[in-house]
Amino acid sequence: TVDKKVTVTTYSAANGEELVAKYPQWKTEFELFGNTISQKVMAISKWVGDLFLRLLKMVTIPLIVTSLITGIASLGNATRFGAMFSKTLLYYLSTSLLAIFTGIFVVNLIRPGIGAELPGGSGSLSSGQESISSIFIDMVDRLIPTNIIHSLGEGEFLSIISFSILSGIFIILVGGKHAKVLTDIFQAGFEVMMRMTMFIISLAPIGVLAFMIYAVSSQGIEIFKTLSWYMVAVLLALLIHAAVILPCLLKFIARRSPLEFARAMGPALMTAFSTASSNGTLPLTISCVEENAGVSNEVSSFVLPLGATINMDGTALYEAVAVLFIAQAYSGEVLPVQQQILVAITALLASIGAAGIPHAGLVMMAIVLQAVGLPLEAQGVIIAVDRVLDMCRTSVNVWSDSCGCAIIERYR
Ligand code: ASP
Repeated sequence: TVDKKVTVTTYSAANGEELVAKYPQWKTEFELFGNTISQKVMAISKWVGDLFLRLLKMVTIPLIVTSLITGIASLGNATRFGAMFSKTLLYYLSTSLLAIFTGIFVVNLIRPGIGAELPGGSGSLSSGQESISSIFIDMVDRLIPTNIIHSLGEGEFLSIISFSILSGIFIILVGGKHAKVLTDIFQAGFEVMMRMTMFIISLAPIGVLAFMIYAVSSQGIEIFKTLSWYMVAVLLALLIHAAVILPCLLKFIARRSPLEFARAMGPALMTAFSTASSNGTLPLTISCVEENAGVSNEVSSFVLPLGATINMDGTALYEAVAVLFIAQAYSGEVLPVQQQILVAITALLASIGAAGIPHAGLVMMAIVLQAVGLPLEAQGVIIAVDRVLDMCRTSVNVWSDSCGCAIIERYR
């Protein structure tokens, strides 16, 4: 009534509780008032965070295309590198898959997402009941785009990655002056895209802060408790891969002492940890591998630059753990096995496509989320704790590249 409204305007916010006590029927209005401010904070922080994600998405596709084509095309002469290429590729793929399975094992063991509430969760997973063969057929179909322009426009990552890899390979096969022109063009594009990405990454603190505010204002401080189990899962899996699996390969395949090799790689690993960029660490990785660990330049100059782009064990593992965590949180249950296999395969592709720069793994996660029908907004939630995970997974990426050098060196 008119009478009540007049009374409200004469009370200040400070004695709101007193007013609610006097007029209990207005309680909801007061709660709404309180929420309005936090809703505003929520909306603005979400908008700022989303702008940052949009910037990252903007560079994702040009970055994948130029980085993959340049990485492969710059290998040069096909016959000379053929033998080493196949061994290196075998190492890259097998260690990335080992990392992914370690991640999947740990995330199924800890189940950090069960009971966790993530903001914006819609709870529906697509294609949950599909058979593994139909998922496989669908994936192979998507690897062969009928119209690459359409795939680029729609952001179909699988098609884009396979087309880029094929383009790189055929640039090598064509050779001669045409190959040189194309390699130069893609190299130039890659440099520009890298610089643009670096600039966007320098804005990351703003984006991360905005998402933290959004997470806390929409979920309360609880969100960090939720994410802490997810972090434990990622870190534990990374530790198993870096401290057990890779050292075993070093010891039994390369026949080198893992401890001595780790000591030799110390400066590179520390730089990877502090910069969260395997590309940024590359010069140091090369010098540690050659000068401290005694690997030949022929091996290191081949294995490391390519590895910094396509061999990312830490990133692959992280993709799998993060997406399975998100799936657990949104659906409240563990994903069926065939979906987990799909996550494993797409996590491998995402790690291959990720550039060696900070947060690239988070950006690439879109591929994996898309594959199992999870909302891309989930990236905005886990970005709140991404930096520390990025530092750790980057160190594992560089560690795996270095171990690869020792192994290839022995069997070259
Ligand atoms: N920062 C990682 C790297 O440079 C990539 C990632 O974000 O996972 O190796």
